[in-house]
Amino acid sequence: MTRRYLVAAVLSFLAAIVGGSARAEVPAPRAEDYAPGTLKINVDATDIAHRIFSVHERIPTAPGPLTLLYPQWIPGTHGPSGPIDRLAGLTIRANGQVLPWRRDPLDVFAFHVDVPPGAHELEVVFQFLSPLDKSQGRVVMTPELLDLQWNTVSLYPAGYYANRIRAEASVTYPAGWQSATALEVVSHNGNTVTYQPIAYDDLVDSPIYAGSHFRRIDLDPRAPTPVHLDIVADEPKYLEIAPQLLKAYQQLVQQMYQLYGARHYDHYDFLLALSNKMSSIGLEHHRSSENGVDADYFSKWSDGPARHDLLSHEFNHSWDGKYRRAADQNTPNFNAPLQGSLLWVYEGQTQFWGYVMAARSGLWSPEEARDMFASAAAMFDEGRPGLAAWRTVQDTTNDPVLARRGGVFRSYQASFDYYPAGMMIWLDVDAKLRELSRNQRRIDDFCKAFFGMQDGKYDVNPYTFEDIVRTLNAVAPYDWVTYLRTRLDGHGSLTGGIAAHGWQLVYTDKPSTAFNSSKGVTDVTYSLGALLGKDGEVTDVLWDGPAFKAGLAPDMKVLAVNGREFSGEALKQAITAAKGTSAPVELLVKDFDEYRTLSVACHEGLRYPHLVRTAAPDSLSDLIAARK
Ligand SMILES: [Zn+2]
Repeated sequence: MTRRYLVAAVLSFLAAIVGGSARAEVPAPRAEDYAPGTLKINVDATDIAHRIFSVHERIPTAPGPLTLLYPQWIPGTHGPSGPIDRLAGLTIRANGQVLPWRRDPLDVFAFHVDVPPGAHELEVVFQFLSPLDKSQGRVVMTPELLDLQWNTVSLYPAGYYANRIRAEASVTYPAGWQSATALEVVSHNGNTVTYQPIAYDDLVDSPIYAGSHFRRIDLDPRAPTPVHLDIVADEPKYLEIAPQLLKAYQQLVQQMYQLYGARHYDHYDFLLALSNKMSSIGLEHHRSSENGVDADYFSKWSDGPARHDLLSHEFNHSWDGKYRRAADQNTPNFNAPLQGSLLWVYEGQTQFWGYVMAARSGLWSPEEARDMFASAAAMFDEGRPGLAAWRTVQDTTNDPVLARRGGVFRSYQASFDYYPAGMMIWLDVDAKLRELSRNQRRIDDFCKAFFGMQDGKYDVNPYTFEDIVRTLNAVAPYDWVTYLRTRLDGHGSLTGGIAAHGWQLVYTDKPSTAFNSSKGVTDVTYSLGALLGKDGEVTDVLWDGPAFKAGLAPDMKVLAVNGREFSGEALKQAITAAKGTSAPVELLVKDFDEYRTLSVACHEGLRYPHLVRTAAPDSLSDLIAARK
């Protein structure tokens, strides 16, 4: 938006306030049952050619004005990410007559309709036109599989808490497809599956994966609370999973129970899509999670540890995020704003446990775990000039609402850094608890006390910053407020947990296991100061790093290095050749239609982060070791 338009927008906004019309006419949610009855939502998901989900919904109601909402604030994304722009064909009928509807001009997710006298039910029809390719948004339907999220395919009445509205859902799938979800199945009728009525907020929390290539694996045989891995894939061959990998996933379940001593679900389903067509995802729910990765996730497992913490991360959210939820993420319905002040716990500590549990379960080797921690530490050692210069970790918790996508100068924007920064803070907290208690207590004790109560219960149990401090003090008394606020609101170092656990961050010219280049990515962040794709496309440039200073910017393309055609290997050889010399690394780059040669002063050679032991006692090895 240019400044001129901004001024005009502000003036019209002020005029609207003066005119008294700056508020959407949407009833506030009340904690009352939605008395008219149960929503009946049928989704026809058979049009896989056009990627269209067709919705037919019956909404019991009473005569008079009614506002229907399309979910806007989506838990898990923490922001106003409901894809309202993909809703089309909205038609509302009562007693067979089409009713006019009006979208609220100040809340485009709200539809007003007058229910005529004598009408007790609305028949609502619309389509969710899901993206056809990744440039339009998240691809959720392909010829082989689909990811159905109820917030995209339902409207619900305004004025009530989402957990006080009942909904009965059914889905018609393409012939021969199988499906998985946390919802309980009531009946099959042809290709239509009907699910047990459930509170609307639980329905939205219970997505469905379905596909023509499907496999269901029991991860906790004979347990009273079953845990399943439900896989859909582009091709049957991708469904194969190595026995030791399967064992690690079964271990993951047991290690979680060791940590928390309680579970907050009656059953849990990991929904996993192995697909190069569907967009990737990791989204937590109370009794399930949506996980979307490349088709060869299992078959190329040896490519390195990155993303192998996906399931351990999402599973952890059942405790941290869904059951125990930051109070300002615990909203009455899906159109009340979410606030992210505690995302450094919700996501930051989950990032931490995603790493630790990947190691404890055997999804990562100890070396891989250390390499991943080294990469995160390097980010806050050299890779985040933005956090030193202008942003705080606390400020980054606004990013789901700012909808920063990252990518462009991520090191300066520090986009979504509450994940890795939160993780570094909790690593440090673990070391501090050990120090304060003379190794009698550790972060496991905090977690059992904070997340592990009320076994079997899964009503949301909200928490505040003060609750965190109180529990930390119960584990080991300390000035935790100052300790945490210094890290969250300051610009100081976040890597103290590495040294406190008896390790040191160093850089060597050998890539660690965390720097796998099998997808053609060349990551020379800590030498040249850039991240490049297979064909030399620049995807990120370290702010104020050597390449930045030479004029390189994201979205340029490197065509040649020192006069040779670009390849990741050629670039690394050039960086190595420039080590200790005064000769620059010369990059021929394309910037729109211009060709330029940039001289990058880069004289330390290749540098990749690793952890090495110090003389101090090693408690990191204990942290990542399986609990017995
Ligand atoms: Zn998460």
